[in-house]
Formats: sequence, C-alpha cells, structure tokens
Amino acid sequence: MLNIILFGPPGAGKGTQSEKLIAKYHLCHISTGDLLRSEMAKKTELGLAAKKYMDSGSLVPDDVVIGMIRNKLAQDSSGPGCIFDGFPRTVAQAEALDELLSETGNTITLMIALQVEADELIKRLVKRGETSGRSDDTEETARKRIEVYDRETSPVANYYAKQDKYHAVDGVGEVNDIFNRICQVVGVPV
Ligand code: ADP
Repeated sequence: MLNIILFGPPGAGKGTQSEKLIAKYHLCHISTGDLLRSEMAKKTELGLAAKKYMDSGSLVPDDVVIGMIRNKLAQDSSGPGCIFDGFPRTVAQAEALDELLSETGNTITLMIALQVEADELIKRLVKRGETSGRSDDTEETARKRIEVYDRETSPVANYYAKQDKYHAVDGVGEVNDIFNRICQVVGVPV
C-alpha cells in the first residue's frame, strides 16, 4: 500500500495537494479536520466536544482523534492506500497510527512535509477565511494555530525522519509546480 502523510502547518496547502494526489494515485483521504467538522455539523457528542478546541486553535485531545482514525481505518482498509491529511499532529498520534496500521500488516510509506513561512501562512488563512466559513480562519486564531503547530506538531517530523520517511517539499509557488515536486518524491508511475 502507498500510505502518505501530508504534513505541514495550517495553510501549507495539505488539502489542495491531497485532492491532486488522490486523483492521481486513487488513494483514500483521511483528514481529521474534515472528520471533526463533519461531526460538528451533525452536532454529535464528539463534534460538540471538539468545537471548543477547534474554535480556539488548540488541538483536539489525542484519544478523541485516535478513536476517530481507528473507525475510519476499519472502513478504508482495502484499496491502494491512503493520504493522511492533518494527522498525526502529535508524537502520541504517530505512535498510535503505526500501531493501528501494523494490525493489518501495513505501514506509512513516506511523509511529505510542505515548507511555507509563517507570514505567507497567515496571509493564506486570512484570505481563505473570506470564503471558507471556518471560524478558525481569522488572523488571531491562525497565529495561535501556527504556534500550536510549532510546539506540539513539528516534533512529528523528527519521528518520521528517524524512520527515514521524511521528505521536505517547498510549498510556495504554483499549485501544479508544488504537486510536481511532491510526485517526484512519491515516484510511483501512474
Ligand atoms: P489546518 O491544517 O488548516 O489547521 P485542519 O482542518 O487540519 O486545518 O484542522 C483544523 C482544527 O481541527 C485544528 O486546529 C485542530 O483543532 C483540529 N484537528 C484536526 N486534526 C487534528 C488532530 N490530528 N489532532 C488534534 N486536533 C486536530
């Protein structure tokens, strides 16, 4: 299986590049942000509990997110592989993911880490906020999310670097150019 983690700070372009990777490699899409927003829209207990963390730009607790991924993987275990978008966001989540995948004899193939500077991220998130309807796409919450990323999420890169799976990709430029950079790393013929 081709299991790719698309990694990077908020606004790095993970969602956009996920869509392109899915179209090319026919992978399933596992985005914890999308799963959480869908729970929120349905006003489930999980969604209501997650809302206050998401609105403030904090991470939703690991046990909630890991439980959601466990369910999702149970549904999507066949097929050529998955894109993990916005997950794992803590080292504990990365360890749980390795364990869950190993239950079915699978593993993460590689991590693509999109590199974008903070000023550019804020610009993109504030612009997205004009149309996304996302309550966390304001300048203040965007800054908080980037801080949370630096503190809690960036160590996840090292976790995969130790497994020789980490690949940094420049996330600035035209969407298609960035996609081509990613495909060079993934390197599987279509
Ligand atoms: P972005 O990458 O732009 O921040 P996401 O949709 O991935 O957008 O995440 C939005 C919010 O959802 C995060 O700020 C966080 O509150 C919550 N969230 C998403 N994924 C996770 C995760 N793996 N662990 C904890 N919280 C998460």
